[in-house]
Amino acid sequence: MAITRFAPSPTGYLHIGGLRTALYSYLWAKKTNGEFKLRIEDTDLQRNSEDAVKAIIEAFDWVGMDSDCEVEYQSKRTDIYAKYIDQLLEEGKAYKCYMSREELDALRAEQEANKQNPRYDGRYRDFDGTPPDGIEPVIRIKAPLDGTIKFEDGVKGSMSFEANQVDDFVIARSNGMPTYNFVVAIDDALMDMTDVLRGDDHLTNTPKQIVVYEALGFKVPKFFHIPMINNPQGKKLSKRDGAMDVMEYKRLGYLPEALLNFLVRLGWSNGDQEIFSMDEMLELFNPSNINKSASAYNEEKLKWLNGHYIKNVSNERLCEELKFFGCEIHGHDKKEMVLDLCKERATTLVELDDAISNIIDTPKSYNQKGVKKFIKEDTINMLENYTQILKDNIDTLHLPIDVELVTKPFIEENGLKFPQLFQPIRISLTGGIQAPSVFDIVAVLGAKESIRRITVAIDKNFDKEEV
Ligand code: GLU
Repeated sequence: MAITRFAPSPTGYLHIGGLRTALYSYLWAKKTNGEFKLRIEDTDLQRNSEDAVKAIIEAFDWVGMDSDCEVEYQSKRTDIYAKYIDQLLEEGKAYKCYMSREELDALRAEQEANKQNPRYDGRYRDFDGTPPDGIEPVIRIKAPLDGTIKFEDGVKGSMSFEANQVDDFVIARSNGMPTYNFVVAIDDALMDMTDVLRGDDHLTNTPKQIVVYEALGFKVPKFFHIPMINNPQGKKLSKRDGAMDVMEYKRLGYLPEALLNFLVRLGWSNGDQEIFSMDEMLELFNPSNINKSASAYNEEKLKWLNGHYIKNVSNERLCEELKFFGCEIHGHDKKEMVLDLCKERATTLVELDDAISNIIDTPKSYNQKGVKKFIKEDTINMLENYTQILKDNIDTLHLPIDVELVTKPFIEENGLKFPQLFQPIRISLTGGIQAPSVFDIVAVLGAKESIRRITVAIDKNFDKEEV
């Protein structure tokens, strides 16, 4: 039974890298009948924003990954951290460091000149003299002076850090605020985490956190450090490539299940399977199979998956989703037919919305390129004759096949080629030349509305500029 968490810092919106980490954590907890917890790491008061917290919670709501406990906020847990700082001080496992800013800068400069990594030199580790005046101390934890800090990473394998790679790092600033590596370890321990899945940008924090676990006698969880998502060129994912707010994907017309399916495959696989329902993800996901190397973002694939889900979710669900885009198809008497027709080609809900309004809405203008190409001198006469056919069959044209059965003979009898009739009708009904089949459009609109639109187009002479 795995207890996992996602622990974002609310310094900005939630982006897809974060959401993928959360998804992996969520899947692993749920698969093992464990718990998934959401913890907001908001100790950095200057960089946090309430809007970012809201945006993160909103994104989790949208994708439907609920926390199994009340969302925790580190900013509300400062008393707990203070207690553990006191405990470490009392036990001699942490100490006050009075090093001034100038001293620290001088040390850094010296280390840099000697091509050494910046590292605190432990000068106050065993200090028992009189503290210098005017300096509020920071608290540093005593890290091991020799040996190695080891752990078995679920993705990266055996990790080992020499003691000299971890200095006595600050666990509380001079204003008393505890630091990131300290509070993460405390929270993960107190919240009973068994498995910590996070981005591999945190890999070098892990030995520090292990120092905290060990100083406090906490059990060290299992770590899984997940490689980054890169852009298709193998570089860091930028906003333009897709590293945008998760909610932006909603605005762009993606379904949450498509996004989750896309993310689960970015860094994990099960043979060459591409489509995963939530149930399948839960059945098959295992963090031990997470790829060791970075993955590449692929927008085409996301679109393809989204198209798949748009075709496969219920029309009722599509109606609900489309409301967000102002599309009120749910009240339309032929909504099933319209949706069946339009969802075949749509890769986003925005495209679906466009395709629907293309048919449902009265055309505001007529594509003049199409008009020039397809509206000839004898076209008007042909359209008038065709509307007569529609009028004669007004009560029987319900399905595309009904329309087809009266239209094909008309084409034959008049010796027409298909585009000669279809394109002028398409232009009359939708304004454009690329809508679905004429039989489908006429069936959806009904004979009456089709006749009306064709008549309007004729009356307006297709907005043709008269010469
Ligand atoms: N709060 C950290 C971040 O947003 C994550 C900490 C962790 O997962 O251990 O990057």
